[in-house]
Amino acid sequence: MILPKKCSFSNDSVQCDIPPSYVLSVIENEEYLIGVSCLDHLEPIKSKIRKLQKTKSIPDGRLKIDNVKMVSTNCIKGSPEDYEDVYSQRLREK
Ligand SMILES: [Zn+2]
Repeated sequence: MILPKKCSFSNDSVQCDIPPSYVLSVIENEEYLIGVSCLDHLEPIKSKIRKLQKTKSIPDGRLKIDNVKMVSTNCIKGSPEDYEDVYSQRLREK
């Protein structure tokens, strides 16, 4: 599992390019990697995930937040393509 090098936050087509400190995933039977966040954007990304869960754009499970360092020792299910193409993209949509 290769994590993105940049924070998933974007606003008005400006993409945050700070290296991520947190990995956000949703647990609903399986664990789905949703996005990564720098220190500053954890709260905006969390509220975005809640909104996307309400519209069923991403799985409606329990939100899990890990430090990037911890994730390398944990196994997250789902392919990198799922992550890049689906959930990360939805985070960037308005
Ligand atoms: Zn950021």
